[in-house]
Amino acid sequence: MSTAHPHVPDVSTEDRLYTVKYRDSGESHLGIENADICTECTTNECTSVCPAAVWTVDDDSDGVPSIAYENCLECGSCRFGCPYDNVEWTYPKTGSGVVFKQG
Ligand code: SF4
Ligand code: SF4
Repeated sequence: MSTAHPHVPDVSTEDRLYTVKYRDSGESHLGIENADICTECTTNECTSVCPAAVWTVDDDSDGVPSIAYENCLECGSCRFGCPYDNVEWTYPKTGSGVVFKQG
């Protein structure tokens, strides 16, 4: 049996994300159940587990994340990464959301 690994091009995450397209539904499929919990949350896992930097916490946001839902890759990591189960997560409306290209 061959032990050779397939060739993986040396391409940065930013370059890979540049090839991903999004169809914006105009409304977020992501949300926060209870903003008060985010205010108390000191670890902000939603920001660290997201591969597309959808979740960000600004200094002046009281710890409540902003959500750039149009960049979502629909991987589900934020849903499971939040230790307080505080992420509202649904798929985007039919016909919208991420479009991956092959290659
Ligand atoms: S969504 Fe979850 S991980 Fe993110 S700030 Fe709120 S409580 Fe913390
Ligand atoms: S589903 Fe994945 S890409 Fe989308 S916001 Fe959550 S962690 Fe980020």
